[in-house]
Amino acid sequence: MVPLLDVNAQNHPLESELQAAFTQVMKHGRFIMGPEMETFEKEIATMTGAKHALSVSSGTDALLLALMALNIQPGDEVLCPAFTFFATAGAVSRLGALPVFTDICPICFNLDVNDARKKITAKTKAIIPVHLFGQCADMDPILALAAEHGLKVVEDAAQSIGAAYKGRQSGTMGHFGTYSFFPSKNLGGFGDGGMLVTNDDELAEFARVLRVHGSKPKYYHHYVGGNFRMDTLHCALLSVKVKRYAQYTAERQRNAVHYTTALAKLPGIVLADPAHCKCASAQAAALAAQGAKIVLPVAYGHNSHIWNQFTLRVLGGKRDSLRDHLVAKKIGCDIYYPVTLDQQQCFADLPVSSRRGCEVAHQLAGEVLSIPIYGELSEAQREEVIASIAEWL
Ligand SMILES: *Cc1c(COP(=O)(O)O)cnc(C)c1O
Repeated sequence: MVPLLDVNAQNHPLESELQAAFTQVMKHGRFIMGPEMETFEKEIATMTGAKHALSVSSGTDALLLALMALNIQPGDEVLCPAFTFFATAGAVSRLGALPVFTDICPICFNLDVNDARKKITAKTKAIIPVHLFGQCADMDPILALAAEHGLKVVEDAAQSIGAAYKGRQSGTMGHFGTYSFFPSKNLGGFGDGGMLVTNDDELAEFARVLRVHGSKPKYYHHYVGGNFRMDTLHCALLSVKVKRYAQYTAERQRNAVHYTTALAKLPGIVLADPAHCKCASAQAAALAAQGAKIVLPVAYGHNSHIWNQFTLRVLGGKRDSLRDHLVAKKIGCDIYYPVTLDQQQCFADLPVSSRRGCEVAHQLAGEVLSIPIYGELSEAQREEVIASIAEWL
């Protein structure tokens, strides 16, 4: 038995420290925007190198707040990948703006900048690169494209806090970056929570005001904001974990190395080739020539990957067969994501122009399968996962 994720394995050893944090907050009683909130925000700012860090109610609200602070309006178009968690596009829609879906790179699963370029119109105001599964999107060409067209850049770094691109921290390269502390994220919290980061003083100040109903001072409202705050208590609890974050990341990276080394030795399992970045046809030809059944994920050399997910591509229409086999063996696994965003029911009424040309995303939605990668996996558990996959081949 190997679960896909075991939050208790990480949290239970911290019980006494967590209880002390709880007691401290309970005793002073400043549950909303108390001192531990500021401490935690400083810790995240220090860890990521961002100038400003604002704790918020969730990763979803971090995205919404970023787009509100960038003044995204009804009728505006915002580019985002078709292959991501729903919140990326949901935040755009909630403001009355139009999410325009871009295709993805078959190697790193992230937004394909060449496709994004084709979908820019006079109405395009922003782009949301997502750093999916813990690896950064190819930011240099994305930032260049954004600069060329005057687009705002919001990095959805919900799955990639602490990851790096060419030495730059995920979330700190655009106008805003957003993190999530949902329990299954790498810095997993004790409920919902998130963080909005920026290096821009004015944007930080505007987001700070919007976080509390657009009021400054209290009860004087210049804007319509919302309640986007994160609880003091939750900040205090996460401060206990943030001190250990480098270790948590190292453990996930060790697991990824173990999987990659062991699985790549099995017949029919190949490593994705970074040379095929953004070129699905060249990649498909190479995989066919190799007789590949499963493609392993890779980290680009310029990226520091934090492995929120370890996602296999299972070729030849066999993904569900491998999933069923692993489930029968009691090996946790799941499909992130089975339906691309351009194909979601709630977006069926959006103009076709916003939902075209996402073929790679559609293909991958039928191939991906994520296996356990959380830091506390034992070597025996990793071997069990590997043996179960070997048995299926
Ligand atoms: C988890 C996630 C979010 C939303 O974060 P919540 O804290 O759950 O609201 C947004 N985008 C991506 C890519 C995510 O994985």
